[in-house]
Amino acid sequence: MAIFAVTFFVLWTLNRTRIETLALSGGWALLSVGFTFSLLSPDHWGRAIIAITHVPYTLAAICISYGILSRVKVSTPVPAMLSIALLGICTMAFTQRFHGPVLTDLYITNLTCGVIMVQTAQLFAQKRGRDGVETFLFIMLTITAAQFFIRPLLTFAVDGAIAAETYRDSVYYAAMVWMFAFGSVLFGLSQIAGAVKDQLIEVTRKNSVDELSGLLLRSEFETQVKAAFARAGKKRTPVSLIICDLDHFKQINDIWGHQIGDEAIARFGPMIRTMVRDSDIAGRVGGEEFCILVWDAREVIAAKLSERLRGATAKLQVSQDALDVRLSASFGVAEREHGETYRSLFARADQALYAAKKNGRDRVRTAGEPKSPDRAEDARKPATTDRLAG
Ligand code: GH3
Ligand code: MG
Ligand code: MG
Repeated sequence: MAIFAVTFFVLWTLNRTRIETLALSGGWALLSVGFTFSLLSPDHWGRAIIAITHVPYTLAAICISYGILSRVKVSTPVPAMLSIALLGICTMAFTQRFHGPVLTDLYITNLTCGVIMVQTAQLFAQKRGRDGVETFLFIMLTITAAQFFIRPLLTFAVDGAIAAETYRDSVYYAAMVWMFAFGSVLFGLSQIAGAVKDQLIEVTRKNSVDELSGLLLRSEFETQVKAAFARAGKKRTPVSLIICDLDHFKQINDIWGHQIGDEAIARFGPMIRTMVRDSDIAGRVGGEEFCILVWDAREVIAAKLSERLRGATAKLQVSQDALDVRLSASFGVAEREHGETYRSLFARADQALYAAKKNGRDRVRTAGEPKSPDRAEDARKPATTDRLAG
């Protein structure tokens, strides 16, 4: 149990925003303190041991419930759980004061933890889309909750009346030790599996998503686009690439400061995300340069999407501190020809973007458009290969 407490603490230090991991660490620490006390306290303390250990055990149950439920974004009824724990300790104090049977103490402590765990299992069951890790957790949670009711009943049937001084020689106590020794290992491991899964998702996300814009990083964008090309090739699905570049962004930084420039990117990324479909792929491929692979769309459709994005860009409010900042963006669009490589498609969309910039910015140009002689001249400039190299 102490090892679990340390493990969750170490996992928490890797990502301190995950309070649920800290709660699990606290829960296991409380369990190990309670159990050590239960094992090592002198015999003549008698039933006081059961009352004292009731406190760390129930608090541990609440911490672990909070840790398990917060992880899956279900809110924990902490006040209700604390009330159940308090009710348990009051009832126990009452029966001890009036010398009721020791069995009552044991029933109270098991029922209290059992009710808290059943409540947790019920709330956890609300989570949709459980994978293997969550199913393992759910099974362990259910078994843990159930054993609080089944274990005392079975062992009391064997033990009969238990005396406070010889409580630790009872079958009940032996079963509890076995439960702690083996059951808690599985229960703890299921929670570790959940925490490790979260860390892996976090690391994968960090390696694939740009923090500022929330869109894919260039390398991940290219990987996903190439995979989409393979799918599109098989099904003959038309796909188009949009490259867009914020206009005069250097001036925005120069006039308003780098911070406002960053805020502009932080607003622009989510704007793109909300305006494209889930099947489209959107990434930040350069400082103020973004790409969208539009799935199942011919060039004219992608150009219409670009127009909508252009219109939304003009209306985007960049910052509360600098209300006058107005953004605009230029767009280059190209539809993928059958079998065309990403590099070649990117080059054609980039030429269209270059034409949009040359023709006054804040506009959309497509690769399929007939070019005027001066635009054709522009398009031959080597900007394309520079961008790809960078
Ligand atoms: P154009 O209309 O031709 O695209 O002009 P531009 O000024 O946008 O283009 P240029 O390539 O000259 O400058 C791009 C600027 O974008 C320069 C760079 O400092 C800025 N930039 C790139 N990435 C970031 C970023 O993450 N944050 C901020 N604030 N600025 C960035
Ligand atoms: Mg620019
Ligand atoms: Mg640029």
